[in-house]
Amino acid sequence: MSLKSLVESAVSKRSFQMIIGGEAVTKPGRGFREATDPSTGEVVAQVPLASAKDVDDAVSNALSAQAGWQALGHEGRAECFAKFHEVIRQNQEELALLDAIDGGNPIKAMRFDIDLSLAYIRGWPGLAQALTGQVYPASPGNLHYSSHRPYGVVGRITAFNHPAMFAITRPLPSLIMGNTLVLKPSDETSLSTLALAQMFQEAFPPGVVNVITGGVEAGEALVSHPDVKRLAFTGSVNTGLAIQKTAAESGYVKNLSLELGGKNAMVVFPDVDLDEAVEGAIFGMNLDVCQGQSCGSNSRVLVHSSIREEFVAALEARLAQFTLGVAYDEKTDIGPLVSQAHHRRVSSYVESGIEQGARLVRGGSRPDGVPEAGTFLEPALFDGVTPDMRIGREEIFGPVISVFGWDSYEEMIGLANGLDLGLTASVWTNDLTIAHKTADLLDAGYVWINDSTRHYFGTPFGGTKNSSIGREESQDELLTYVEQKVVHTRMPSLDNALKRVLG
Ligand code: NAD
Repeated sequence: MSLKSLVESAVSKRSFQMIIGGEAVTKPGRGFREATDPSTGEVVAQVPLASAKDVDDAVSNALSAQAGWQALGHEGRAECFAKFHEVIRQNQEELALLDAIDGGNPIKAMRFDIDLSLAYIRGWPGLAQALTGQVYPASPGNLHYSSHRPYGVVGRITAFNHPAMFAITRPLPSLIMGNTLVLKPSDETSLSTLALAQMFQEAFPPGVVNVITGGVEAGEALVSHPDVKRLAFTGSVNTGLAIQKTAAESGYVKNLSLELGGKNAMVVFPDVDLDEAVEGAIFGMNLDVCQGQSCGSNSRVLVHSSIREEFVAALEARLAQFTLGVAYDEKTDIGPLVSQAHHRRVSSYVESGIEQGARLVRGGSRPDGVPEAGTFLEPALFDGVTPDMRIGREEIFGPVISVFGWDSYEEMIGLANGLDLGLTASVWTNDLTIAHKTADLLDAGYVWINDSTRHYFGTPFGGTKNSSIGREESQDELLTYVEQKVVHTRMPSLDNALKRVLG
């Protein structure tokens, strides 16, 4: 099948409609926007835009469905998860393909995203079942205990870079704890979530998962809605701050978790196996997953000066091995950036790096042999980056690697911790003491030693400083979807009770 027919058959398979209360919304309040394939620049579908009224409908349907969903208990909800797992398994290829078409991520990587999502669907019910309330020794002879209560309706807003994976996995912890959901994906990459909206209905009762699409207006309406007491967000720092403001201005106190940006440091000591560390730098950039458009990418590589030249040369050679191309072509390692606007933004960072005196070792421009209207960018490798440069301190969210040199340990720690962001970091050395002491000093929420990028389900993922509020993918996250309720019971004396009951 030609690539063009592949796209046509993928997008004609579904009607991309929001689903509220189990019903497709045929007339979205704000009309539609075009979904463009960034590999070719062609419009492939129309994405509905929710109005405040649509958002209100979605929230009220979620609210009506919540008591029934909670009453199913853990077992009943876990059964729906098992059904959902089956539905996703049957539609794996379609979802991966939609993400490649709509977002530009290579098809091979998007298949992996769906595999990973299946593991999360399997994982959450067990993790949730292990959560218990507590009995407190508050006063002798009496009973003091706590239990968990879901918030009710959770509003979930996600970022553009792993569309299907976020739409599948991010709702799961809130759902298993008994909340219902209104999910809003990024307006840049909504197609797989709209396909998923139908798949959710095959596994969950109507109203439990409501899917709305749209941009800022839809997001704001969800954030400010009085019946949404718990909000969970994945996206940029600026939007995270805007959400905090909108939530506060709604006049309701809301519980928020924010998974935001990163400008993550990879620290390389001179005793490393150079090839392994170079491979780690490549792997940690997520170039062949999402063109480096990843919150966890190690976009700042801090290499000890004694091996920097050799390291940069090896990195340059390794970068030359990637094939850039149309995202749904099986041969492609690196696809296009998500949109023209993002391409311009990332390109302007490349220009600023050159202007501010960093050495562009390779990349940073359009590659040859790709469709003219596609948003392709050859991964850029900069050496000699310093912290005053924009490419050295701002999140670019694209295929740009900034290499810094360092001589003293204190200088390296200052560089690594010198930003307002602190999502992930990695330490590369064969010395155990240096590895663990440095991991302890790095101001980041998730640190790898001689590894990068991999998430391990069950361990808390999130960052420090402006990168996050909260931790995901773990029991810590489950606890954020429930409120604790404490019950104190005064127990009268046994003698009195016995007299009353037995006479
Ligand atoms: P973004 O902040 O532009 O948009 C994210 C979502 O917020 C979208 O659904 C968008 O429609 C919505 N939105 C935009 N303005 C809004 C507003 N005022 N109120 C409510 N909703 C609003 O982010 P993006 O460009 O989609 O994603 C890139 C960013 O996400 C990067 O900063 C990246 O680091 C971050 N990210 C973080 C993680 C993490 O786990 N920490 C994971 C992926 C991406």
